[in-house]
Amino acid sequence: MAEQTKYVLDEADLPARWYNVVPDLPEPPPPPLHPGTREPVGPDDLAPLFPQALIAQEVTSERYVDIPEEVREVYRLWRPSPLFRARRLEKALGTPARIYYKYEGVSPVGSHKPNTAVPQAFYNAQEGVARLTTETGAGQWGSALAFACAQFGLECEVWQVRASYDQKPYRKLMMETFGATVHPSPSDLTESGRAILAAHPDSTGSLGIAISEAVEQAAQDPDTRYALGSVLNHVLLHQTIIGEEALKQFELAGDTPDLLVGCTGGGSNFGGLAFPFLREKLAGRMNPVIRAVEPAACPSLTRGKYAYDFGDTAGLTPLLKMHTLGHEFIPDPIHAGGLRYHGMSPLISHIYELGLIEAIAVGQQECFAAGVRFARSEGIIPAPEPAHALAACIQEALRCKETGEEKVILTALCGHAHLDLPAYGAYLAGDMVDNELSAATLEASLATLP
Ligand SMILES: *Cc1c(COP(=O)(O)O)cnc(C)c1O
Repeated sequence: MAEQTKYVLDEADLPARWYNVVPDLPEPPPPPLHPGTREPVGPDDLAPLFPQALIAQEVTSERYVDIPEEVREVYRLWRPSPLFRARRLEKALGTPARIYYKYEGVSPVGSHKPNTAVPQAFYNAQEGVARLTTETGAGQWGSALAFACAQFGLECEVWQVRASYDQKPYRKLMMETFGATVHPSPSDLTESGRAILAAHPDSTGSLGIAISEAVEQAAQDPDTRYALGSVLNHVLLHQTIIGEEALKQFELAGDTPDLLVGCTGGGSNFGGLAFPFLREKLAGRMNPVIRAVEPAACPSLTRGKYAYDFGDTAGLTPLLKMHTLGHEFIPDPIHAGGLRYHGMSPLISHIYELGLIEAIAVGQQECFAAGVRFARSEGIIPAPEPAHALAACIQEALRCKETGEEKVILTALCGHAHLDLPAYGAYLAGDMVDNELSAATLEASLATLP
């Protein structure tokens, strides 16, 4: 029989439940705190920002949450997503390792983000919310939420980091095509934005500032809620559909992963792929090493501090216990916009502290070299974010070449680069630098922790 390249599930095999890793952990993660009282936040504190169903999912101790049929109907537009065996990359590397990638670029916006945007829009619509606000960097999350809002008849208002708003007009046009309104951030529409503009009129913005603007807007209007595309427990919960499908696909392949690698911005595609495998590992059914890969310019897990910090720049959010570089940290403008966040999911941070996962940081030149190598063998041009994970895959595959080990490696190829091609242009032109974070900059930034 010919060698199989992709493992596809039938629509009937679409998982019916998301997986919550918390009850399977040896201890639960520390709770978010109210910044004023430093007491754990309650549902009332979160109600101005999120619908009740999502607040309940944020703190649930159930191992599984049913996926509503309305959400599964939208998921079927692109799910189940394919699992590929990267045979051509393996050959190009000359490695005995077997490399698999779960491809999320088949979604309507080209990334894993709609896996959570769709249920978030659904629950908000169900509770009578009229409008969602959010932030976006490069625009993957903004376009996913714009698409999801169009599915459920919600208005969508997006604050896009100024630098990306100016440099990447196609993502903005995509959001507008789905019916969203897009503002550059910082904007003069919010107090947080006006304060930044007063101090830095030429500010190119950051995800932290854009979050402040979107949160401030939602808190003021009873018909508006806020949606976050990463970091929070309910977001990682929704993304576990990736890992649940991948487990079934590995059964089809008759294989078991020895190593999982994923890129981490706020931790959602990584957690989504890894948590169902972590469940299997904790139950003693397999024993993969699980490795997070972050950019050297924004290394929250490998060089940040595990401490309570704000999720945004203005300090409007609850305090989250996470690996953070400080909420005022503005990362260098690397091309992986989705990885330029100062913090990390509290759940991923906790699991890292428990020693259940490991983390490495990679410079962007190595990532783009990996992206080009992948494109020339597998035919998919990876987004700059998953190019970080591919760099780690290739590192490992080359080690296997030395040792002769037939290691099985799995990664999430969480998006394609069709709207990020100028970044590849910069790389091919030799016009790309590695932005290493200096110890002095890091120390100054950590001094601002609340
Ligand atoms: C948003 C995004 C990321 C980073 O977010 P995570 O929550 O860490 O997954 C990574 N890759 C792509 C393609 C993204 O759109």
